[in-house]
Amino acid sequence: MRYFLIIFGAVFFMSSCSEEQIKEPASKATPTLVQVSVIDALLQGFYDGFMSLDELKSYGGYGIGTFHALDGEMIVLNDTVFQVRADGDVYLPADNETTPFAAVTPYLADTSYVLNNVDFTFFDENFNTYFPTPNIFYLVLLKGQFSYVHTRSVPAQVKPYPPLADVTVNQPEFEFENVYGDIVGFYCPAYAKGINVTGFHLHFLDKNRQKGGHIIDFTLESGTMELGYLLDYRLILPSGGDFYGGDFTIDRSDELEEVEGGTN
Ligand SMILES: [Zn+2]
Repeated sequence: MRYFLIIFGAVFFMSSCSEEQIKEPASKATPTLVQVSVIDALLQGFYDGFMSLDELKSYGGYGIGTFHALDGEMIVLNDTVFQVRADGDVYLPADNETTPFAAVTPYLADTSYVLNNVDFTFFDENFNTYFPTPNIFYLVLLKGQFSYVHTRSVPAQVKPYPPLADVTVNQPEFEFENVYGDIVGFYCPAYAKGINVTGFHLHFLDKNRQKGGHIIDFTLESGTMELGYLLDYRLILPSGGDFYGGDFTIDRSDELEEVEGGTN
């Protein structure tokens, strides 16, 4: 009996030690938000893709963006890239297709909440209840039954590419009622102005992978919200092309405001 207690004690001691050893590095590992180009490049009409979807997915399985020539809205969910084109249908683009603007991160959920009957404005009005600070980046994942979802997509463009605000004047919009699905997106802090969309930028994909798009409005009837706190940010820029000749000295906040209900 005494040996049993000693052995039991030793095993218990060892297992609690190894748990500590495993936990410590994990708690210090911060997932990286990897972003392709900047929002002010997209606003100027720089729609040439320069990173393959294959490479994009290597940086993380969750995120949003658009495609070469602005050919629709991108939703990256569980390592799969979905494309909501201007016809409203959902496509699975090939890995060698490219993106001119996107952001992805590996999945993580630092916090999770159950939500009932909340709309888009709820998150602004109750920000401090759910988000510990407005000054970091967040991965935002919503899943559940939506009583209403209002989205848009963007049609593929041909050169010379028009600025984004000209494209979104005629954007196709879609409204869905009583649909189950996922919202994926990011919250970016105010100081990210010019680099990404500040505040919330969210895309929707229904459970059957048949409808979605860039979120203009929604009401989540019942579901969950998971947040990942993102403290590590990596920006990957084009190595030439339109980007090198772009004018980034102009404040494009008003243009962004026009396209938000919203951006890509
Ligand atoms: Zn968007």
